[in-house]
Amino acid sequence: MRVGTVALVGRPNVGKSTLVNNLVGQKVAITSPKPQTTQFSIYAVYESEDVQIVFVDTPGIFAKAPRKDINLEAERVLKEQIDIVLYIIDHTRKRGIEENRVLGILRKVQKPKILVINKIDKEKPSFRQDYRFLEDEFDSVVEVSALKNKNLPILLSEILKYLHEGEKIVIREDMPTPAINLDSKLYIGENIREKAFLVLRDELPYSIRVEVDDVAPRKNGMFYIKARLITTVDRYKKMIIGAGGARIKQIGSMARRELELATGQKIYLDLKVEVEE
Ligand code: GDP
Ligand code: MG
Repeated sequence: MRVGTVALVGRPNVGKSTLVNNLVGQKVAITSPKPQTTQFSIYAVYESEDVQIVFVDTPGIFAKAPRKDINLEAERVLKEQIDIVLYIIDHTRKRGIEENRVLGILRKVQKPKILVINKIDKEKPSFRQDYRFLEDEFDSVVEVSALKNKNLPILLSEILKYLHEGEKIVIREDMPTPAINLDSKLYIGENIREKAFLVLRDELPYSIRVEVDDVAPRKNGMFYIKARLITTVDRYKKMIIGAGGARIKQIGSMARRELELATGQKIYLDLKVEVEE
């Protein structure tokens, strides 16, 4: 069978998670953070009869990392068991300092690299020209809309070119603990935490964790999720909540949108902030 591990890298919000969710689509077998690390790359497995692809959705590479190890995580993934790298860009956003960081990391990687230009469903604004120079550095260039499922089969067929013959990389039965799928508490928690990192950026308190207390379907067809962001000091709690609750609201709505996308469910996210010394 043809197999391979594919890392998705790019700055935050370019659409990495949307892409991996929709590439794996209905075929999703397992989504699981790597068991032996506490960092939060999400692993998702695409399987068909004769192909297995393990997608690794790395946390976004930040210009100024909100947590010391977050860029390291993306770099670590690239050094390790990766066969192919997808570099995702959003042509509707200007190139920035962050993009240079990502490029710096990518240039050191000697593996097949595919440039994925995302959000082609949006025509304006477009900074597509500013990214042209990149194309020479990549083995393939594919334009997609992760959200609208556009050109994803083309991207898959590009990925297939770089897979190798081998045994399955991941065997579902061998996964530690029952394989975690998209509606697991762990996945939900990681997602909320990622959004908190994004929203808080440099103000981020060092210790912040997420506890998911309840995940339950409701009669109206919605999924009810109750979660707590837990930090160590009252000052941090205020920071996370923000003026008039603006920050926690933003974190919640970003997480909700991504979880809705991942699960195909309407979600009601009940998010609170707590102090635990
Ligand atoms: P990540 O931080 O790189 O994982 O990005 P996400 O997958 O969380 O996406 C960030 C935002 O971009 C979300 O609001 C997505 O709905 C949106 N998005 C992702 N892909 C597309 C796309 O192809 N077109 C449009 N218009 N929006 C997209
Ligand atoms: Mg993401």
